[in-house]
Amino acid sequence: MTAIADARTELDRTRFFIDGEWVEPRGTETHRAIEAATGEVLGEAALGTDADIDAAVRAARRALDEGPWGRTSVAERVDFMLRFADALEARAESTSRLVSQENGMPIALSSAFNGGAPAGLLRMFAQVIQNVELESVRPSTGVDGATIVRREPVGVVGAITPWNYPQALAMFKVAPALAAGCTVVLKPSPETALDTYVFADAAQEIGLPPGVLNIVLAGREAGASLVTHPGVDKIAFTGSTAAGRWIGAECGRLIRRCTLELGGKSASVFLEDADLDTFLRALPTSSFMNNAQTCTTASRMLVARSRYDEVVEAVAQYSRDQVVGNPLDPATTVGPMASHTHLERVLGYIDVGRNSSARLVTGGGRGDFDRGWFVEPTVFADVDNNDQLAREEVFGPVFAMTPFDSDDEAVRIANDSNYGLGGSVYSADEERGLGVARRIRTGTIGVNRYDIDLGAPFGGMKDSGIGRELGPEGINNYLEYKSIYAPASYLR
Ligand code: NAD
Repeated sequence: MTAIADARTELDRTRFFIDGEWVEPRGTETHRAIEAATGEVLGEAALGTDADIDAAVRAARRALDEGPWGRTSVAERVDFMLRFADALEARAESTSRLVSQENGMPIALSSAFNGGAPAGLLRMFAQVIQNVELESVRPSTGVDGATIVRREPVGVVGAITPWNYPQALAMFKVAPALAAGCTVVLKPSPETALDTYVFADAAQEIGLPPGVLNIVLAGREAGASLVTHPGVDKIAFTGSTAAGRWIGAECGRLIRRCTLELGGKSASVFLEDADLDTFLRALPTSSFMNNAQTCTTASRMLVARSRYDEVVEAVAQYSRDQVVGNPLDPATTVGPMASHTHLERVLGYIDVGRNSSARLVTGGGRGDFDRGWFVEPTVFADVDNNDQLAREEVFGPVFAMTPFDSDDEAVRIANDSNYGLGGSVYSADEERGLGVARRIRTGTIGVNRYDIDLGAPFGGMKDSGIGRELGPEGINNYLEYKSIYAPASYLR
């Protein structure tokens, strides 16, 4: 963090988007955005204070309680959302590039998750809300009357997002919130300081009413003031388990709704009859996606002992074959880590592996780069499931491989984790694979593949979080029931 920018770029974001306008910061702190592949300055962004968060929450509150948004019809909101989607789509290419530069995401993936996904999510939730019954009438139980059951917006949403899929994860929250009729204060992560304001550019272009969507980049302290602000009705958080634990405790104290999408330590389970090519074809989405800076990354690979040596060597070779480089180059399959701090953390885990009884099979270094935050895909074999490397989230391309002797043992090891977010099972017998998948305590799991389905509920068990985003079910986080006890004449 720096006090004053000395290298202005066209990407600078020196103001916040509050109440439909670009507003000067109350404080003086800024964050310098650095390109992950080069270490060069991309731009500078203002960092919000408690006072900036307060102004944003007040604007969101006004838009809901006094402004037009609280009284819009579903059809009006759908119209805004579809136009919002078009406006984001028109910016998709530049947004994808920007995020790749910010966090190292290979460009093809960025085009899907930062370019395409936000518009797709707006369109999906615009459809979803049209199929939700927002008001129904039923006979009151035990008395002569009618009960009108309504589903109302939960209110002002504080959305807090991490840096790994900044556009998609923000829209996981913003799209259902807008569809439901909520207003939003979005606080992105400083590591991806610049891209989220593209939402503001698009919102301004389509004339989204003031205060409906407010964006304030801020660090942890001001983020905490959003969590506890009396004007907020619900927190939607994606990030680390450590931060989620604190946020969940505060929301409990305040009796405030919250959804927590947190960390993971998912397992891929390779059964003895599995097809190796199928397993390898799944690796780009199951384990390597976004340089393994993905919450669902299967960083533990559990392999039937009879196939163990073969699979360890194949994963090692696959890792050596990856093209590590600048994420803007379409040939790159593994880009740099998102920040220098994060690189150090990942390298720290490689040291942990080296100092354990595990066997380093490939990788372990930073590769042949004189700048940028690169790390070689790294595979450790013979990792004990009690080792730190098997228990803690690395959030980078460092994989722990462990043998097992039976399907039951595989399930036991997979479940012997504080986390439960992703995972996959490989078997030539799909029913057998499905049987194992059903026994693993996790929020999402694949059989012979792992691809996140935006049309289905997504979230974690255990320390991986509480609540589900996405799918038609994702709208439920943003609606609350209200029962009106009315005269029997309302029964039609
Ligand atoms: P992080 O927890 O450090 O930060 C996430 C966001 O929360 C940032 O905007 C940060 O400024 C903010 N924040 C941190 N502490 C806060 C506090 N006390 N009060 C309010 N805001 C606070 O996480 P990160 O390093 O940005 O992201 C990586 C983590 O996110 C990994 O653990 C990863 O598994 C997790 N993640 C989970 C999912 C999921 O859907 N389950 C998806 C993506 C990432």
